[in-house]
Amino acid sequence: MTEAQATPQTGKRVLLARPRGYCAGVDRAVQTVQEALKLYGAPIYVRKQIVHNKHVVSTLERQGAIFVEENEEVPEGSIVIFSAHGVAPEVYEQAKERSLRAIDATCPLVTKVHHEARRFAAEDYDILLIGHEGHEEVIGTAGEAPAHIQLVDGPEDADKVTVRDPSKVVWLSQTTLSVDETMETVARLKRRLPLLQSPPSDDICYATQNRQHVVKEIAAECDVVLVVGSLNSSNSVRLVEVAVDAGARAGHLVDYASEISDDWLVGAGTVGLTSGASVPDELVQEVLDHLAARGFTDVTEVTTADERLTFSLPQELKRDMKAAAAARAANGNGRGVVPV
Ligand code: SF4
Repeated sequence: MTEAQATPQTGKRVLLARPRGYCAGVDRAVQTVQEALKLYGAPIYVRKQIVHNKHVVSTLERQGAIFVEENEEVPEGSIVIFSAHGVAPEVYEQAKERSLRAIDATCPLVTKVHHEARRFAAEDYDILLIGHEGHEEVIGTAGEAPAHIQLVDGPEDADKVTVRDPSKVVWLSQTTLSVDETMETVARLKRRLPLLQSPPSDDICYATQNRQHVVKEIAAECDVVLVVGSLNSSNSVRLVEVAVDAGARAGHLVDYASEISDDWLVGAGTVGLTSGASVPDELVQEVLDHLAARGFTDVTEVTTADERLTFSLPQELKRDMKAAAAARAANGNGRGVVPV
């Protein structure tokens, strides 16, 4: 436990989780949109929310990004960015048909799961994909090998799967699930399919695991845990569930400090605070200010991991950035032109 900041005792304290907020994949995806706006100019089209956070999306919209649901909404020949959650191969095909220039901001850790799906499908495995039905990441991964993949949405679904050969079946998962619930699903699957193989490495990503781990550490001491994040953010919603399962008396998800009800804090001595992997830290600071104004001035940051991972920008964007820099240097006037 490290002390970040301490002020006169009010008897009310905040346990601030770390790691929290932006992960490497989200940071890369947001930077991809910002760099594309700088390089090509507005508007830049983005298929689906680049990351599942209301504040991030509205900020990028103000900077010139246009978020669409499908490629058909993007004018032919334009640039389109695919979100961090990944897309099925057919989405690339549709983009080609419309002569769109696609920049792929899929998190490399999601791409890793796509590779696993393709590899096991090529070896003719049945693949049990543990994930939430309708989530964009699951749609994208399932699209890699629809004939081989069955979705298992939680432990109850485990009893419904049917496979062709029980000795040739593997499970994969969405990257942002609850670790404990996923293990429960796997255990239930293994009762029926003892030869079920596990993924070559964890599919639930480091950021999801780290954020859940630190919340578990603080939860039992907390009267209430506040998670900053959006309702459609899988990893943020999981953090609320994990907090309550680990002993917090209550857990709430908020996009903004203004959504915190004073009723939640009545009688509370200790508030836990964290944020999902798509949440900029300024929103957490606003919650800290909100809590301080209500007497929660004693803030202790609880750290369980040090995250240093970063991902480089998508190749296609880096190539154009390099070309623009070279053009600027050649013109000697500080202005580069990138053909679109
Ligand atoms: S939560 Fe994990 S998989 Fe998703 S963008 Fe972040 S690092 Fe990548």
